[in-house]
Amino acid sequence: MRHLVQFILAVTLCTAVTPASAQDVYERKPPYMSIFGLRGYKTIEVEPGLYTFRYGGFRNIFVVTDDGVIATDPINPTAAAVMREEIAKITNQPVKYLVYSHWHWDHVLGGQIFKDDGATFVSHEKCVDHFTFNPHADLVMPDETFSSNHEIKLGGTTLELLYFGPNHSDCNVVMRVKGSKVLFVNDLVTPYYTGFGTMPDYDPGGLRDTLAEMGKLGAERLIGGHGVPIAPASQITEQYAFLNTMLTGVKQALDARTPRSEILASIDLSAYEHLEGMEDQLPRFMERILFYHTMGW
Ligand SMILES: [Zn+2]
Repeated sequence: MRHLVQFILAVTLCTAVTPASAQDVYERKPPYMSIFGLRGYKTIEVEPGLYTFRYGGFRNIFVVTDDGVIATDPINPTAAAVMREEIAKITNQPVKYLVYSHWHWDHVLGGQIFKDDGATFVSHEKCVDHFTFNPHADLVMPDETFSSNHEIKLGGTTLELLYFGPNHSDCNVVMRVKGSKVLFVNDLVTPYYTGFGTMPDYDPGGLRDTLAEMGKLGAERLIGGHGVPIAPASQITEQYAFLNTMLTGVKQALDARTPRSEILASIDLSAYEHLEGMEDQLPRFMERILFYHTMGW
């Protein structure tokens, strides 16, 4: 009996990968969780073959097939090494593809460990412009690129890469396992967060259009690049409404010649007070959208 208990305990402690439970689907922002304050790492099986891996405050997905693994954003060298170990607990198949969700360094560094295993690196072609203009020692350049929607087929599974044009950056893709109602929407929607408004290639109007298109995909759940593991697809709608309120609110304030220091207070954001970032990100958002309306960029 003692050995049985020890065995069960050992199996429990060694099983780092857990299937998604109701607790992993967050219907609202957890009051105790700061999106960038998370520590450690965790892998969750979202649905058969689809996993999400979190390292600190950063999250990706990987897809396990009989013929190999399609991994995404390696995050950084340390995270990539942990992710490789996590994948090895699930399958003895190697990572055959590594797909970048977009070009930002907080998600795409550290891929060399998978390159050494023979993985083919894939991104939207516009990411290469940024990687070339602004190289990083820990960045593996893509082997294959694409310019519009793209598919990766492996072991009977298809990972769809959906490109909607400039938004959070100019090379973001939404990822979806064909037939699934779960989207990986890195940095296009960070559940229960305002998002950043200050990226150099950020297009606020483009992101609004993208969110509208994403809302038509028939998804039920989404995985963001930061924060909670899984959120309802209604977060797309909320993010659209928040961004639309900011875009129209700043425009109306400018048209009314509202002093810059009073623009934020002139916008009714009471519906979004629960979002993280309303204190530190909001003034930057306002500035960015102000330039979008007045400078054309
Ligand atoms: Zn980003």
